[in-house]
Amino acid sequence: MTKSILEGRPVLKKEVDKVAEVAGYLWQNGWAERNGGNITVNITDLVDDEIRKLPAIDEVKAIGETLPYLKGCYFFCKGTGKRMRDLARYPMENGSVIRILDDCAHYEIIADHPVLPTSELPSHLAVHNRLVEEGSGYKATMHTHPIELVAMSHHRPFLKKDVLTHLLWSMIPETKAFCPLGLGVVPYQLPGSVQLAQDTLKELEDYDVVLWEKHGVFAKGVDVLDAFDQVDVLSKSAKIYLDSKSMGFEPEGMSDHQMKEMSKAFHLPK
Ligand SMILES: [Zn+2]
Repeated sequence: MTKSILEGRPVLKKEVDKVAEVAGYLWQNGWAERNGGNITVNITDLVDDEIRKLPAIDEVKAIGETLPYLKGCYFFCKGTGKRMRDLARYPMENGSVIRILDDCAHYEIIADHPVLPTSELPSHLAVHNRLVEEGSGYKATMHTHPIELVAMSHHRPFLKKDVLTHLLWSMIPETKAFCPLGLGVVPYQLPGSVQLAQDTLKELEDYDVVLWEKHGVFAKGVDVLDAFDQVDVLSKSAKIYLDSKSMGFEPEGMSDHQMKEMSKAFHLPK
């Protein structure tokens, strides 16, 4: 067996370990049935000369679009059809490292095994392309199916701009502090479609987490733990709301004054 790309590279291994850690949380939370969900991490900054010289281990593949800011970039991607619960235990058998070629329209797998990346690769890479273009520090994108948030997306009044953001922020002070941009909403689109990717890109200009109507969430973060944490705090608020409703009352929520006080005390952007 050839050695893993992670061997002797503790910094790179740490990032892949974070992916495995989060994949376990997604499964344990019931957010990742079967092969549901995706994680893609930009690891370009962690790549050394030896990795840059590594040959492809499978044939070159088309991304499906041209992404000019990703020239020569490297990503760790969950494999297509792979389960989060397996990614948690064996990340390099259920995901792979890819290199974007100089034409910015093709990629090749370089390690450890020829595991084909997620079918959602074009939309994840389109978001990474925008993140690099903006010079942002965001390196990770994550898509998952949080039960309570998806349930709330089946209620039309919740889908109006910032209705859910304010409702979820008002359930517990920390949600506003730890998800300070709130929750964007993308109307239902076919999974994997170009329209879904474009709508997500647009909504991510104003939010770190967006809710896909009747489907799931898409989040960006400085690393995958950051992306997970923001979805986790939103999900916590959704659970408090639903628990209140199931006890038979409408939760009062923090007042506008209490919310403004939070923004001031914690220097929050909204
Ligand atoms: Zn999905």
